[in-house]
Amino acid sequence: MRYRIGILKGDDIGLEIVPVTVKVLETAFKKFPDISIEWNELPIGMPAYEKSGETLPQVTLETLEHLDSWILGPIGHMAYPKDDPKALNPHPILRRKFDLMSNIRPTKSYRSIRSLHQNVDIVIIRENNEGFQPDRNMFKGRAEFMPTPDMALSMRVITRKNSEFVARTAFELSLQRNGKRKVTAIHKNTVFKIGCGLFLDCCKDIAKSYPDVEFEDRVVDTFAMNLVMQPQDFDVVVTSNMFGDILTDEAAGLVGGLGMAPGLCVGPDYSMAQATHGSAPDIAGKNIANPYAMIMSGQMMASWLGEKKRDDSMVAAAKLIQTAVESVIEKLETVTPDLGGNSSTEQMGEAVCREIESRA
Ligand code: ATP
Repeated sequence: MRYRIGILKGDDIGLEIVPVTVKVLETAFKKFPDISIEWNELPIGMPAYEKSGETLPQVTLETLEHLDSWILGPIGHMAYPKDDPKALNPHPILRRKFDLMSNIRPTKSYRSIRSLHQNVDIVIIRENNEGFQPDRNMFKGRAEFMPTPDMALSMRVITRKNSEFVARTAFELSLQRNGKRKVTAIHKNTVFKIGCGLFLDCCKDIAKSYPDVEFEDRVVDTFAMNLVMQPQDFDVVVTSNMFGDILTDEAAGLVGGLGMAPGLCVGPDYSMAQATHGSAPDIAGKNIANPYAMIMSGQMMASWLGEKKRDDSMVAAAKLIQTAVESVIEKLETVTPDLGGNSSTEQMGEAVCREIESRA
C-alpha cells in the first residue's frame, strides 16, 4: 500500500522532535516491504514566515489536500508578529479546513515514570473546531468582542454534526481498545442547558448504536475532581472543545507531564498527528525536548491509516512503534531530562529505532 504523508515541523522544539519522529516511523515502515511512503516536507510557522512572509503558505494548504495524513509539530504562534495578517496561527485553520473535528488524546501511566497515579489508561476525545474557541468557531470574524471598553463577550458554538462525530469517534475507539468498553461524556448541562444539553443528547443518541459499550455522563467540575482522585475509573472520555483543552492537560499532569501527551486530530477524510503540548520555547534548541508525545502522535497516525485502509502491515507497523517506545520508557535508560534521564531528544529517538530494529 502506498501512502502520501506530510511533514510540517512547526516551531521551536518542533524542529527537533518532528525529524526524530519521522526517523522512527521510517525505521518501522522499512520492516514492511509492502508499505511505500511518499514523504512531503511542507513550509509552516516561523521558518516559512522568514522565507516567504507567510506562516501558512498556499502551497502547504494545496498540497495537504492530496495527502493521506500529516505530522504537525508544535506551533509557537505567541511569538508571531501581532500586526501582520499573514502571520496566522496555522493549526486552527488546518483543523477547520480539513474538518478535523475529533482530537484524540491518550493519557497512559508507566511503572517506570514518577506520576501521581499508576494504572491510568484513558483517552480523551476533545471536539476541535467549535465550542468557546473564538479563532475557529465562526465562518467569518471572531466570536469574541467588546461592545464597550468595560464589557467582553465570548460566544460558544455547539453543533449536532460535530457533537455526533466526536461521540462516534469515542465509541469506535472504545471498541478498538482492550479497555473497560466505557464512554463518559463530560458537560455542564446544569448551567448550559441548551449548548451542553445538545452535546449530551447527541452522545446519548450515538450510544444507542453501541449496546456493547457502557455509557455514562458527568458534570465537568465533578469529573475534574474524579480525574485527579480516581483516574482508573475511566476509559474513553468525550467532551466539547474548551473542557477538553483543560482536562487533557490535567490528565497529562497525572502521568508525567506534557512531554507524555500525544494527540491525533481526525476528520472523515484526513488525520493530523499533533502532540498536546506547545512549542516549548524555553527549552528549544537544546536537544532536550521529550519526543515521546510527538512519536506516539505519529504512531496514532499510522494506526489510523492502517484501520482506514484496512492495511494489516500498517496496523502492525503502528503496534511495533508502540511496543518499541514503551520498552524505552519502561527501561528508562535513554530518556530526556523531564523523565529523570540525561539523554538528548535524538538519543531517545535512536533508542526507539534500535528497539524497532531488534524486533522480528
Ligand atoms: P500552547 O498554549 O501552545 O499549547 P503551553 O502554554 O501549553 O503552549 P508549552 O509550550 O506546551 O506551553 O510548554 C509548557 C511547559 O511544558 C514548558 O515548561 C515546556 O518546556 C514543557 N514542555 C512542553 N513540551 C515538552 C516536551 N516535549 N518535553 C519536555 N518539556 C516540554
